[in-house]
Amino acid sequence: MRFYAPTDVYLEKDCVKNHSKDLTKLGTKAFIITGRHSSSVNGSLQDVTSVLEEAAIPYEIFNDIEENPSIETVVKAANAGKAFGADFVIGIGGGSPLDASKAIALLMANPEETADCLYTPKELKPLPIAAVPTTCGTGSEVTPNAVLTIHEKETKKSISYHLYPDLALVDGKYLRFASRNLLINTVTDALAHCIESNLHAKNNPYNSMFSSYGMKLWAALKPYLMEEEEAEDHIYDIFMLASTVAGMAIAQTGTSLPHALSYEITYHYGVPHGKACGLFLAAYLKLYQKYAPKMVREVLNILEFNTLDDFRLFLKDLLGEVSITEEELERYADNIMANPSKLSTWPFEITRDEVRDMLAQSLIIR
Ligand code: NAP
Ligand code: ZN
Repeated sequence: MRFYAPTDVYLEKDCVKNHSKDLTKLGTKAFIITGRHSSSVNGSLQDVTSVLEEAAIPYEIFNDIEENPSIETVVKAANAGKAFGADFVIGIGGGSPLDASKAIALLMANPEETADCLYTPKELKPLPIAAVPTTCGTGSEVTPNAVLTIHEKETKKSISYHLYPDLALVDGKYLRFASRNLLINTVTDALAHCIESNLHAKNNPYNSMFSSYGMKLWAALKPYLMEEEEAEDHIYDIFMLASTVAGMAIAQTGTSLPHALSYEITYHYGVPHGKACGLFLAAYLKLYQKYAPKMVREVLNILEFNTLDDFRLFLKDLLGEVSITEEELERYADNIMANPSKLSTWPFEITRDEVRDMLAQSLIIR
């Protein structure tokens, strides 16, 4: 059993400003990685650039990271960062810019390497990385993962390196600008992280402290997701906390089958990451129940659902439905069965029929 969590994390209002020294000590020339619009609107980019300007640290901004970032974008950004000569990287935004910033920091620190190194395990180290999340789902600010889209293979995959940010500055105020759909999709991702970590083949007392607490926080957020109550600033802090805590759980175990099943749905149908994972959670718990009913009961208790069907209906209301063809259903089941590393996260034996059933229960087949 091992516990490893090297990221220095601050979670509080105005933490970029309050902990500016922790940020500026990471280097002398900063490369900022962000998405196309949101960080200019929600104040996160301004918070970071103000701190850099005050410390007279030159910076350049790459603001062209798309959702589910591709290898091509990461390479383009890394080339710009190398040309600028930055010696540290700051990711600002949702999981897409944060994940991209990890891969970019790796390529920038190893200019002799090509993009091939991303999926070839070697002894490579990245430049120092700071992460400022503005969504409440991926926990990328505290995880070692960086998921990229591989167009060649028509799917997404985590790179071969474990790259923890050196510093995470987490402030719920940026969520005030998020739409209801973005909050729902991303906090469903956090829920998936908690559940999948808690039921993972590598589950142990360390990660389950985080996953259980994350689920407790998620349960308290249900009225805000259903719009029965209106979120105020301190509630956005809880959304962020749930996400970071869930990230701390998967940092120890990794994710499991709902994530593995989600990637094809995101790639082929553009379904946002959190929603794509959430679609599979009820069927995943149903299958798990066959082998370990007490563990599933415990998850439902923490989440404050009486039955698994209540949980299924809650998520269906929240997320809606996605339809695929019969042919895709069979292909997705084959792809999962052909990938032993994805199946190794499941603690029991699993058959193709069970994987196929999980897909068929979670999606509309047309
Ligand atoms: P995202 O793809 O980073 O962002 C989704 C959208 O939200 C973008 O259009 C973005 O706009 C916008 N946005 C971001 N913050 C906002 C805010 N505060 N207010 C309004 N809009 C905002 O979404 P995500 O769900 O956070 O990240 C998904 C990615 O993370 C996927 O690639 C997934 O595979 C990965 N992931 C990584 C881990 C990990 O451990 N590293 C875990 C789970 C998922 P802009 O483009 O304009 O910024
Ligand atoms: Zn996720």
